[in-house]
Amino acid sequence: MSWRADRPEAVKPCATCGELLGRGYPSCQGCAEVVDRPLRAEWADLPDQDPILVADAPPGEYRWTCVDWALRQLRCDGCGGELAAGAPQCVGCAAADAARWEVPALTSNEHALRTAVVVLRAPSWRRESVVSTWRLVLPFVLTGAVVPAAELREIRALVLAGRYDELAELEALPLTVPLLPWRRSTVDREPDA
Ligand SMILES: [Zn+2]
Ligand SMILES: [Zn+2]
Repeated sequence: MSWRADRPEAVKPCATCGELLGRGYPSCQGCAEVVDRPLRAEWADLPDQDPILVADAPPGEYRWTCVDWALRQLRCDGCGGELAAGAPQCVGCAAADAARWEVPALTSNEHALRTAVVVLRAPSWRRESVVSTWRLVLPFVLTGAVVPAAELREIRALVLAGRYDELAELEALPLTVPLLPWRRSTVDREPDA
């Protein structure tokens, strides 16, 4: 089956949480259902659905979707959390996370989806602005978009400038908002602007 099968064609609000579909990942069930669908579908196609076998297989044996779905089903011996997404300082999780990337995604869009999922499942591993950036772009990635690194950096800069809510209202890429007047010019600004 096509990897894109059953993915949303257009960005739209989630019927469960009301945010753009994907943005509630992973806590919103409606968002999680759609975001995880390709992983679950490819796992279901495996003849051998054994998480330990798949997670420990040499790189290249299984698709990244199956490797990630296998990790999802395993507990980390070190921290007790989801393997590769547990405690931020856990050595076992860090090793499992590093190993998963030896199985690359095939397209830039798949890589973006995978990165967003990994970041949002272990938000305490990263800076809040990075997590927010992936949360903002995930609805677009879900529909097949690829957001270039430069655009991600720009979004993150705007998030750091406190513009998350404005960016979250946009329903099309690129996610950008005009700089505030005081950022364009520091010469004529109002005292309280
Ligand atoms: Zn949702
Ligand atoms: Zn761990």
